Amino acid sequence: MFQKILIANRGEIALRVLRACKELGIQTVVVHSTADADAMHVRLADESVCIGPPPSRDSYLNIHQIVAACEITGADAVHPGYGFLSENAKFADILAAHNITFIGPSGDHIRIMGDKIEAKRTAKRLGIPVVPGSDGAVTEEKEAKRIAAEIGYPVIIKASAGGGGRGMKVAHTEADLEIALQTARSEAGAAFGDDAVYIEKYLEKPRHIEVQVFGDGFGGGVHFGERDCSLQRRHQKVWEEANSPALNAEERSRIGGICAKAIADLGYSGAGTIEFLYENGEFYFIEMNTRLQVEHPVTEAITGIDLVHEQIRVASGGGLSVRQEDIKFTGHAIECRINAEDPRTFTPSPGTITHFHTPGGLGIRVDSGVYSGYKIPPYYDSLIGKLIVHGRNRVECMMRLRRALDEFVVDGIKTTLPLFRDLVGNADIANGDYDIHWLEKYLAKGE
Ligand code: ADP
Repeated sequence: MFQKILIANRGEIALRVLRACKELGIQTVVVHSTADADAMHVRLADESVCIGPPPSRDSYLNIHQIVAACEITGADAVHPGYGFLSENAKFADILAAHNITFIGPSGDHIRIMGDKIEAKRTAKRLGIPVVPGSDGAVTEEKEAKRIAAEIGYPVIIKASAGGGGRGMKVAHTEADLEIALQTARSEAGAAFGDDAVYIEKYLEKPRHIEVQVFGDGFGGGVHFGERDCSLQRRHQKVWEEANSPALNAEERSRIGGICAKAIADLGYSGAGTIEFLYENGEFYFIEMNTRLQVEHPVTEAITGIDLVHEQIRVASGGGLSVRQEDIKFTGHAIECRINAEDPRTFTPSPGTITHFHTPGGLGIRVDSGVYSGYKIPPYYDSLIGKLIVHGRNRVECMMRLRRALDEFVVDGIKTTLPLFRDLVGNADIANGDYDIHWLEKYLAKGE
């Protein structure tokens, strides 16, 4: 087991990882920018190292500074959290070259999954269902038309180097296709310096369902069930649930089984998430994230298993603490992402939190690094906390969520709490009846 872990992140996830390390009796080092000197995780860590000024590229993305912090403090492993360097293959390789363990998969696996065309090819080879479409990049208009006619309109053109929902265009007819192809290519070229695009069938009313997987580091793979993250705004997840209201136990174990086997066949090590669009009972792979997800606590709530403990165990060569048959799904969990943003326009609202009071009681978890008097710096993303609620079933979970949202107080800044108070009373949400477009339509109506 590791002696000392360096946490290369900030905010709620840095604190989340720190808590896991403390429980395992592992010493902690945190790195932080000058803007985060007063952060909760900095106060709670055994050691801290200031690695640079506020902009991320000079601090949380500065590989040299982070490796130097490892050497100075004698850390033998790095947990990257999510975002920042968590899916940076070069970072994983550099740490390996310095004999420091990256708590995550190999650089090669990060690289494969970071290239959308390569990821889709790999998924297909491993027996994961993918969206019908071109087999790789498409350059000729004639070829694009042939493929689109074969899979049927509407189709979506996506940038190979894409990310964050950018560089995508939908075409409903052959006439649309010509324009969509041109604009997608020029946008992709401008945004990513690579104008390669590929074509997929466009699914009109899918849900976003993702499977939590783990490779044990010895060639074995397991799944921890799925999460439904269909409530999104601009491709950003807002509300996540486990299990999905749309799946039954048979579908869960079928897709989970396919994913677990794929992870084993790939020889993957550590935590990963295989993301799908789900429509009319069919799953379509969109991408794999090779790290811990923001929404991992809903899986922890229904399985009772600490996924960060498992990541640390696997990275240290100790394997998983559970076998597939030990993983049981109990009750229902929902996570609300509380952002420092206007709840309707979503404009960021940094500033000082004058009063912060979190809900409590059975089945409530709040993951947050902020406190009364904390000043939110304007340099980073606006997530200030996550409210995770667990109940014996979805109805109980929703009742508890409503109560928890009533108790939650964040004064001094705007937050997305009022949006969740509206959503929890909505009939479609109560029925679990929503797809990936539902939230944007709801917001557009201004209800
Ligand atoms: P990115 O890496 O840019 O986030 P993804 O491939 O993960 O791109 O897709 C982002 C989002 O775009 C999905 O969550 C979904 O909302 C939408 N999307 C992607 N592919 C399709 C598709 N074939 N049909 C319908 N919507 C899609």
